[in-house]
Amino acid sequence: MNNSRNKAIYDIATAPVSAVMPAAPANVNFYGEDVFNADAMRTYLPKDICEKLLATIDEGVALDPSIAGDVAHAMKRWAMDRGATHFTHWFQPLTGSTAEKHDSFIEPSGGKAIMAFSGKNLIVGEPDASSFPSGGLRSTFEARGYTAWDPTSPAFIKRHGNGATLCIPTAFCSYTGEALDKKTPLLRSLQALSKSTRRLMTCFKAGPKKTTVTLGAEQEYFLIDKRFYLQRPDLYQAGRTIFGATPAKHQQMNDHYFGSIPSRILNFMNDVEKELWKLGIPAKTRHNEVAPAQFELAPLFEEVNLACDHNMLVMETLRNVADRYGLVCLLHEKPFAGVNGSGKHNNWSLSYGKGNLLNPGKDPHQNAVFLTAICAIMYAVDTHADLLRMTCAGAGNDHRLGAHEAPPAIISIYLGDQLTDVIEQLEQGVPKSSKQAGAMKLGSDTLPPLPRDATDRNRTSPFAFTGNKFEFRAPGSSQSCSEPNVVLNTIVAEAFDMISEQLEKLDDKNFHTGLQKILQKIVKEHKRILYNGNGYTEEWVKEAEKRGLPNIRTSMEALKALTKDENIALFEKYGVMNRAEMVSRYEVNVEDYHKRIHIEGEIARDMAKNIIMPAVVEAYSKALKTNEMALNQGFPGLDGYAKSLGEGMNRLLAAIDVMEKALGGLHEGIVDAIATLRKEVDGLEKIVPNELWPLPKYREMLFIY
Ligand code: ADP
Ligand code: MG
Repeated sequence: MNNSRNKAIYDIATAPVSAVMPAAPANVNFYGEDVFNADAMRTYLPKDICEKLLATIDEGVALDPSIAGDVAHAMKRWAMDRGATHFTHWFQPLTGSTAEKHDSFIEPSGGKAIMAFSGKNLIVGEPDASSFPSGGLRSTFEARGYTAWDPTSPAFIKRHGNGATLCIPTAFCSYTGEALDKKTPLLRSLQALSKSTRRLMTCFKAGPKKTTVTLGAEQEYFLIDKRFYLQRPDLYQAGRTIFGATPAKHQQMNDHYFGSIPSRILNFMNDVEKELWKLGIPAKTRHNEVAPAQFELAPLFEEVNLACDHNMLVMETLRNVADRYGLVCLLHEKPFAGVNGSGKHNNWSLSYGKGNLLNPGKDPHQNAVFLTAICAIMYAVDTHADLLRMTCAGAGNDHRLGAHEAPPAIISIYLGDQLTDVIEQLEQGVPKSSKQAGAMKLGSDTLPPLPRDATDRNRTSPFAFTGNKFEFRAPGSSQSCSEPNVVLNTIVAEAFDMISEQLEKLDDKNFHTGLQKILQKIVKEHKRILYNGNGYTEEWVKEAEKRGLPNIRTSMEALKALTKDENIALFEKYGVMNRAEMVSRYEVNVEDYHKRIHIEGEIARDMAKNIIMPAVVEAYSKALKTNEMALNQGFPGLDGYAKSLGEGMNRLLAAIDVMEKALGGLHEGIVDAIATLRKEVDGLEKIVPNELWPLPKYREMLFIY
């Protein structure tokens, strides 16, 4: 028998089962205990300084440098009280993960040491930036980059086995001020959208209020037993299985989705949630997803900058806690072929003051604002579909988009029947059908109540209105939430400005008739983006083409949106990214894509050569020997079986050869060669004796945990 595979199964089968917890009162007093939040600030800071800091955070104004020293001191005392000996500026470079370089608070003093942390330590850091991808923004000899404190995302503590570190969320820039990270453009896009929202709301006679963009990021992931994972170089090197035959049973029975959660997984989820709650991350929903071994965690929505930081911590926490349970959390978009991949649904909305602009209103005034926002978003998404598609590019997500499990690569908006009906009435100014009573007249009519329940859902749409928010479903599970929201904020800012510019020319008397005309024009010109049907069908692909909607199938094509002049002009106009920053992101993403494909190609070749091939050779020679013995004894023999192994072996050799050549060429060739190699390996998996097969199989990884 294949010892390691079997031993893993045996160990899992005989692992102790945890006892059911005796009844005891639940307690969530620890919520937020590892966050330097308003409560902690009030405890550790003098009142006047605390007020100044809270105002900075609330109004997004610049920090008064004279209070930095006191804030740093308070933060250090707070962190030390919780066991921290180190601090780090925590940032999000263009690698897509987070980065941290720890420094201790230690300062030697007279043979002993004191713990010190200055205002400067808090506000700026100077990590050596030369080894982070910058896409040519900064050549390596000008290695200096700096991190700058983002007071709008609170400092927090990360704990490990025997210590703790104070983490300070920061933006990461070059010395010339160019953004080298994912946070800076997000903060800039928020400023842009705040300004445009205020301008629009001023047209509606609203006083100055704070604009808040909200995000709820639903995170899908897989969990598999670490004992299998460690036997799969493709998984631990590329994050996905490059080989693996589809098992007889996978997700066709629909018996995993929302099924009862196995206790090992529930224990894991409980621990994840506890850790997240300590960090003030409002983890709310947990459930089994569609594929076997696939799960989801959804937090309550929060302000988008905080939510983006929190999603990075969610991913890290999932991985860390999984390890404690002998599990591995796979965040790759497509760890297993043949079953669903993982996405990250981006629930986006915006409020002005306390009012959510995407909440259908109760009175005619609110309706007018709501319909203006909906039309603005139609305009934005239709005009800039290429930018939204770009945010989902990546070697992993290429396996998912358009694969009839995730939204297609064609961007469209789902509004649901009733809201679509309202929009059509708005366009025509007359009742379209008997569904609604009267014509939609802005400023005097109210909206019919719009359904907000889960039945009115269309899972095949990439961009769906879901009651009081839009759910962008194309982003991949491993991706940072930053890009989709940078783009959404920027394109909606532009749409709001486009509308405001026209509204500002109207006088009070004809405001509503004028607004109606503006929105009618938008609907006429952009209703092609609306689609309530099944996005997985071939008809939609054809229909979308007829409508002139782009169908951008691959990442490499999608990334080009970053280099288009009109897109660069848009981002420059809103101060979100300049040309150099846009082009650098193009370069970084293209390079990332190429490297990943190349790494996968090399792994595929190596595994085929030195893991699969020896097993096939052994199976083949055994079959040949048995065949010979059988023939000697006058039995019919195993000729057919031995032959199929021999033929498979030869095709495998040929496919390895193709791979070898492909590795010297372009990525398309490598992708094709991986597919060819996989076909051969997966075919062999089905005929090589189970006991000789060297890799854990799909039926094991997806079902035994
Ligand atoms: P469902 O689970 O049916 O998709 P939910 O209403 O539970 O829908 O929402 C899913 C996600 O959307 C959650 O993370 C939730 O917090 C988030 N969400 C709800 N309202 C908003 C909002 N106004 N802005 C941003 N996200 C929101
Ligand atoms: Mg959902």
